[in-house]
Amino acid sequence: MLVDPRLTQYLRQLTPLGHPVLAEMEEHAAREGIPIIDRASIQLISILLQTKANVERVLEIGTAIGYSAIWMAEVVPGAHIDTIERDEQRVRQARAYIARAGLAERITVHHADAKDNPPSLSEHYDCIFIDAAKGQYRFFFERYGTRLKPGGLIISDNVLFRGHVVHNQVENKRLTPLVQKLQAYNKWLADHPRFETSFVPVGDGLAISRLKTKPSEN
Ligand code: SAM
Repeated sequence: MLVDPRLTQYLRQLTPLGHPVLAEMEEHAAREGIPIIDRASIQLISILLQTKANVERVLEIGTAIGYSAIWMAEVVPGAHIDTIERDEQRVRQARAYIARAGLAERITVHHADAKDNPPSLSEHYDCIFIDAAKGQYRFFFERYGTRLKPGGLIISDNVLFRGHVVHNQVENKRLTPLVQKLQAYNKWLADHPRFETSFVPVGDGLAISRLKTKPSEN
């Protein structure tokens, strides 16, 4: 656990939900063990999106049941959200929740594996949110980062992986390859010449990477 559960609970109470369907989705996710983003993390992303001027398109890798996509669509009413999910049942559930939230026109759920290139994506995004298979983050970043506008953001969730990334040895040996991949990803992000990245210990850890407007920009 990265953040003390009491603190997480406290922060939840301070983070109001928008559309009533979001509370239902949280219960659904908890009941069925569907991983969705922590409330404080999605609120931080929401504030970043609202602070950025003229956000027109957001790309999300990893829809699950559409919780974060609905949050983002609600806070940037002028934007369209493309979100990619490979699990058919989750795609169906996400589309149903999105319709109930009245956002079907503004959120497109692409039923695809993000390792392939879904054909109907936009050429340019203001923000890309990576929240799918953790071992593939660098691949997703490189594959979709070419579509990011200068000054745009790529936000990666779970980069601190319950705090495991600080240890050289993980108690649960099965997690070791994943932890090593995330450690390598974080280092690669931190050293990336074209992005500046802030690692934020909120939720399971967010990396917020901004594409510099000029290669020479510090
Ligand atoms: N962003 C969602 C939210 O907070 O509401 C949660 C996404 S959940 C952590 C990760 C989702 O990514 C899962 O539903 C999983 O099926 C999907 N996923 C994992 N790897 C994927 C891939 N290669 N392509 C598309 N979807 C993928």
